[in-house]
Amino acid sequence: MNAHEIHRAADLIADADALIIAAGAGMSVDSGLPDFRGSRGVWTALDTPGATEDGLRELLQGRCFTANPRKAMQFYGHALDVCRRTTPHQGYGLLLEWARKKTHGAFVYTSNVDGQFQAAGFAETRILECHGSIHHFQCARPCSPQIWPATGFDKSMHAAYSTLLPRCPRCGGPARPNFLLFSDPAWLVSRTNAQRLRMEVWRGAPERPLVIEIGAGLALPTVRMFSESLRIPLVRINTHDVQAARANTVSLQGTALEALRHIERELSRRFACQHG
Ligand SMILES: [Zn+2]
Repeated sequence: MNAHEIHRAADLIADADALIIAAGAGMSVDSGLPDFRGSRGVWTALDTPGATEDGLRELLQGRCFTANPRKAMQFYGHALDVCRRTTPHQGYGLLLEWARKKTHGAFVYTSNVDGQFQAAGFAETRILECHGSIHHFQCARPCSPQIWPATGFDKSMHAAYSTLLPRCPRCGGPARPNFLLFSDPAWLVSRTNAQRLRMEVWRGAPERPLVIEIGAGLALPTVRMFSESLRIPLVRINTHDVQAARANTVSLQGTALEALRHIERELSRRFACQHG
């Protein structure tokens, strides 16, 4: 990793009074998690029994929750279990430490549905999950706008492949995770919209915000479009396609954890020089 770029990234982080952390699938990869909504990595990582290419493609379509709720929830119930058991990698802790030193702290914008930022200690009120969350349910039809935490749903369903499916408390029909799949008009966006509103309010205060974009690719560019739309200094970390056409951007090619550790080392070195 380019030392000059690491220095520039450390400069930008040191100067900022608030951090916007924009994270894509690459942020989860270092914890051993795949992108549950798209990348092919999901299938191998979850080691889905009896999975076929067509069957798995079907599981990425929004209609899977009404067409074949049992199969869909076996798969996503297992995914939920994997997310719950996964410990966020050290990079989350580094970001949290940097955020605590900022006047306005940090706000997270993530396309990941795995809940790893919450698990790492980021406040629920400072996270925008633009594609929803696997840790919340909604009615699969849906019959009402209700979204509820998946806490009552345990992994025994997957382990036993039992007949128990999560149910909508209102109509009794199948429930589903509150995240966006492909061709998925049934996804309820109200929880994400409430998060978006909180972010807009928060963004009014910082004077020198910096966006740190991590692991966001070009294939599903939601996170990149968001971070570029802010028109503020940007630190971009990704294993590929890191080049940016605009000024005030630092590009670091590497994995999330590797790049964050490099920056931390530089920030610590400076701190030691100032206080040693
Ligand atoms: Zn319902």
